[in-house]
Amino acid sequence: MNKPDNITDNDWRLLNKKYKNITRIVHKIEKGYPVQYLIGDVSFYGYNIMVNKNVLIPRFETETLVEKTIKYLREKTLEDVDVLDIGTGSGCISIALKKELPSLKITAIDISSKAIKIAKKNAKKNNVKINFIHKNIYKYKPVNKYGLIISNPPYLKYNERVDRQVLFEPKKALYAKNNGLEYYEYIIKKASRYLCSKGIIAFEIGYDQGEYLKKYAKSYFPDAIITVEKDLSNKDRYLFIIND
Ligand code: GLN
Repeated sequence: MNKPDNITDNDWRLLNKKYKNITRIVHKIEKGYPVQYLIGDVSFYGYNIMVNKNVLIPRFETETLVEKTIKYLREKTLEDVDVLDIGTGSGCISIALKKELPSLKITAIDISSKAIKIAKKNAKKNNVKINFIHKNIYKYKPVNKYGLIISNPPYLKYNERVDRQVLFEPKKALYAKNNGLEYYEYIIKKASRYLCSKGIIAFEIGYDQGEYLKKYAKSYFPDAIITVEKDLSNKDRYLFIIND
């Protein structure tokens, strides 16, 4: 079997090592099945993260979310705060944060028990301690306040067009009600309960949600610095609410 054009040499080598019936695998990939699920892990922020069909495949954009968040935590000397990661999925955000800033105390929740299972494995593999909890955000009762709330929640609109590969990822990690806005609104609204008076909320957002969310956040945090920031393809992709 020859290597199909859309597979890199390295992935092809890994796939051949892992699977005996490579023809079947190539057919799957031709149908759009993500190569990352077949290989079983990806690199995120330089760390190895296992993935399977129960978790969203970590995106480049999300590495930038981590990078920007670390920069803000350092600037504001918040490197040892309690952190809440909402919708952790594979655990990639929490793991990268903890690796880079080991004094953070991180709690990470997800509505999917299968996601929490893989997130726990990933933390173990990367040798970090994170408090993973299987919980729906709507039912989560924080026991303390957080200096950082970070989330890459589902934010696609139900009718949003996606690449073929995305059709194989968990729907509940991708789509949200209210034009993809429901989790941002809930988290911002509840932040008085969740966020320390000196604290940061860091979100990955949809390319067209920045303007609305900035206004929405302003109404709950009139004194905070609120910024919408761009990803590497120059699209609005992050919202930071910095309260100090
Ligand atoms: N950025 C993802 C995509 O375009 C969406 C991730 C999400 O909903 N959090 O497929």
